[in-house]
Amino acid sequence: MRPVYLDNNATTRTDPAVVAAMLPFFSEHFGNASSTHAFGEHVGEALKKARKQLQALLGAQFDHEIIYTSGGTESDNAAILSALETQEGRDEIVTTTVEHPAVLTLVAHLEKTRGIKVHLIGVDRQGRLDLDAFAAALSPKTALVSVMWANNETGTLFPVADLARQAHAAGALFHTDAVQAVGKVAIDLKSTEIDMLSLSGHKLHGPKGIGALYVRKGVKFRPLVRGGHQERGRRGGTENVPGIIGLGAAAELALAHMEEERTRVKALRDRLEQGILQQVSHTLLNGDGDNRLPNTANVAFEYLDGEAVLHNLNKAGVAASTGSACTSGSTEPSHVLRAMNLPASALHGALRLSLSRENTSEDVDRVLEVLPDIVARLRAMSPAWAAATGDASAVADHV
Ligand SMILES: *Cc1c(COP(=O)(O)O)cnc(C)c1O
Repeated sequence: MRPVYLDNNATTRTDPAVVAAMLPFFSEHFGNASSTHAFGEHVGEALKKARKQLQALLGAQFDHEIIYTSGGTESDNAAILSALETQEGRDEIVTTTVEHPAVLTLVAHLEKTRGIKVHLIGVDRQGRLDLDAFAAALSPKTALVSVMWANNETGTLFPVADLARQAHAAGALFHTDAVQAVGKVAIDLKSTEIDMLSLSGHKLHGPKGIGALYVRKGVKFRPLVRGGHQERGRRGGTENVPGIIGLGAAAELALAHMEEERTRVKALRDRLEQGILQQVSHTLLNGDGDNRLPNTANVAFEYLDGEAVLHNLNKAGVAASTGSACTSGSTEPSHVLRAMNLPASALHGALRLSLSRENTSEDVDRVLEVLPDIVARLRAMSPAWAAATGDASAVADHV
């Protein structure tokens, strides 16, 4: 049986058309884009096209607003560190409790080593930002506001255009980690006040190890990686030519499939989610109703260990996640679900199912066929379940 891949928020399959676009740039057009001879010439033209393709997906006004990086993590680091350098007299950061570790680990480090004050704004039970606390945290000391466009665990969308306006009113720069949003929801940067935006190739059917940081024209930027004059002196190092070409091709495909994401993929996600909620009792849906990415479902089974569910799903040929890939393998519950104040009974039972345009209706059927049985079997062996529901008979059989 074909394995079912439902872990697209961790990484996506590189689209074969993307691989095909990249291949000539390994052994055929291998020249350095900076070289003036014929080998470099063809590369330069291809890079220009790739830049336009990504610009179109972002609705950026100028193609030179894009700086290529090694991925989402580098883009987040570059944005935050640059803002602290360029915003003189300001040494505070406003961000959220539910950011990706690419942001949270860095700001914690800056707080400890540089005395930067970090305001971590919390979320409610649906994962929505505390807007009053956000407004109250902004001040003439705020150098940067960094709020993700979409959460990687629950898919919850944040009102980034509005938050950017508020940041500007306080004289701060605004950055968004849009790694999960780019390619899944429409983005038109020229109609917003967003100063910087991070994205990553491998989250949108592009290759791993390539990403970009959008920096709005006119916004001061200090490079994280210093070296040659590549990227207009904003990121040193020979261009990752195949990666950049692949990201361009992935961006063009994502734009072409955007409507499908909003309709077909969302319909699959909704059927999957509703099927689980109908068939499995004591299950919570995590996230903000319809204000979510169309591809992400996050459910929590009370009195269960999500890792056990995952393991059994894997045996049945279904790949999913408990949340962030970076924390799986540890038994710590997700910092996102903790911030959402999930009841203790559900905190360890989370399951994230993240779809893509490559998923089919049969994939959803398969999960709905195997998952309810897996949960029932695990609960029958769970003392916590027995204690909570008074159903001790099944447990007795297993001890
Ligand atoms: C995956 C992810 C990142 C990290 O991107 P990499 O390219 O893997 O470094 C950052 N932020 C979010 C929200 C992500 O989902």
